[in-house]
Amino acid sequence: MPTPTDPAPDAGTPVIEFVDVEKRFGDNVVLKDLDFTVERGERVTLIGPSGSGKTTILRLVMTLEELTGGYIYIDGEPLTHREREGRRVPVSKKEQKRLRTRIGMVFQQFNLFPNMTVLENIVEAPIHVLGRSKAEATEKAHDLLRQVGLSDKADAHPTSLSGGQQQRVAIARALAMDPEILLLDEVTSALDPEVVGEVLNILRTVAETTNVTMLIVTHEMGFARDVSHKVMMFDGGRVVESGPPEKIFSDPDHERTQAFLSAVL
Ligand code: ADP
Repeated sequence: MPTPTDPAPDAGTPVIEFVDVEKRFGDNVVLKDLDFTVERGERVTLIGPSGSGKTTILRLVMTLEELTGGYIYIDGEPLTHREREGRRVPVSKKEQKRLRTRIGMVFQQFNLFPNMTVLENIVEAPIHVLGRSKAEATEKAHDLLRQVGLSDKADAHPTSLSGGQQQRVAIARALAMDPEILLLDEVTSALDPEVVGEVLNILRTVAETTNVTMLIVTHEMGFARDVSHKVMMFDGGRVVESGPPEKIFSDPDHERTQAFLSAVL
């Protein structure tokens, strides 16, 4: 019987690769000498104290932050810089944009376009970025709205929806692009406790029914344990330890992981 922690179906193909990554904000070095890979179809959760650099990692993959050192590869292609004769050479905006279409992100604060309806939010990028027809994009959007239980809200404006509903729309919007990689940045942290479960259940279903690679930052340790193939514990911008969730949550090697988990569990 397969379990969520079995190896990812296509393990062996790195879909995200960090090589010697450094990220500094001014003099504040947030990430240093960071190396890790995420395989195709793998779901990896980043845990660790606030300020340890987890969200910054997701924002670097989404190219929302400037990479100040090292390299990030998506499907083996450089995302921001390539190495040429030992020097970092920026990739073109066009190349970067092409890679970015493979990546979707769901944010803590939903970030829906407030001036558009729910349906318009979902079809915008498939039409304008992927060049899909309006009919095709609309049909897919309705399918996705059904999946997230919001078929009746297609013509609503985001501001008329609850936080949980807005986040379900944001998940539908990200999935409408058929992303290879889905980045989830504390997607339930801004929600009322009673709607956290419904959002996590939708994401559990996405995890069970698709092969999308996921990089997740969450404080929901039960969810992390259920859906992750791998958990990476961060502290001070470095990986303290990583492994399957049953190992990290039940029998962590490092004192810092034990201290973190005893504070949050
Ligand atoms: P985490 O997600 O683990 O809580 P973050 O990645 O949000 O950590 O933040 C890591 C560090 O980077 C923190 O010290 C934070 O203050 C700093 N940081 C994040 N974003 C910015 C920014 N836009 N400008 C300056 N410092 C930032």
